[in-house]
Amino acid sequence: MSESFIEYEAAERIATITLNRPQAANAQTLELLDELDEAWRRAAADPDVRVIILQANGRHFSAGHDIKGVGASGDVGGTGDGNENGQQPSWTLAGIYEIEAKRFLEYSLRWRNVPKPSIAAVQGVCISGGLLLCWPCDLILAADNATFSDPVVNMGIGGVEYHGHTWELGARKAKELLFTGRKMDAYEVERVGMVNRVVPLDELRPATRELAEQIAQMHPFALRQAKRAVNQTLDVQGFYAAVQSVFDIHQTGHGHALSESGLPFLLLLDGMKARIGK
Ligand code: ZN
Repeated sequence: MSESFIEYEAAERIATITLNRPQAANAQTLELLDELDEAWRRAAADPDVRVIILQANGRHFSAGHDIKGVGASGDVGGTGDGNENGQQPSWTLAGIYEIEAKRFLEYSLRWRNVPKPSIAAVQGVCISGGLLLCWPCDLILAADNATFSDPVVNMGIGGVEYHGHTWELGARKAKELLFTGRKMDAYEVERVGMVNRVVPLDELRPATRELAEQIAQMHPFALRQAKRAVNQTLDVQGFYAAVQSVFDIHQTGHGHALSESGLPFLLLLDGMKARIGK
């Protein structure tokens, strides 16, 4: 029996999806993402659900992709498990691309386009892949201890797979986030509109619930059309095409790292070699 990484509850018109891998700061394995996608599909299909909450158990929203997990269960040419001799990993760009196009691009775009309002509640760290979970939500509430970062330039990659950066932060802040890899706190990203509001940590879940209940009173078709109006405007401005093309730019980072090191990322971050056992 496989471990469950996601909790799902639907009551009083609100579906609550909870990341439940707190012992690993909700780092995302491929299995966790598949389970999360199932939960989104379930909420989307349930006619009684009008609003979707995405939250996380534990101190942190998500520490990003579980680097050990990416590719490790793939049978498409990209595995981190080594060859038949058990020595060298056998990653291929085609294998990485296939895994990431589904889990790190298609999923986030599908969650973004679910025709019901969604609210992310973020506490603690939200690193790289964590952004791929909260950015697709329509609204984001951040606890006052929340921080947001995408330090993958330190891994030789130009940014995480789903390029929300420029849209969410504006061009200058997006570049600062990427160039420095530093954490931006909740108030800093609130000022540029990346989150709707900042609340004390112990008020995060009640405030999120209250907002969801308020929205759930509205007419579901009008909500659907209001969401479509905003998303469609972003798409006309180029969001969809940009996200697709930047995904391919991201893959040149993996290709470069593969050509340099045989791994899909360069081991530049302190402690990374130890973390992945190299
Ligand atoms: Zn990638």
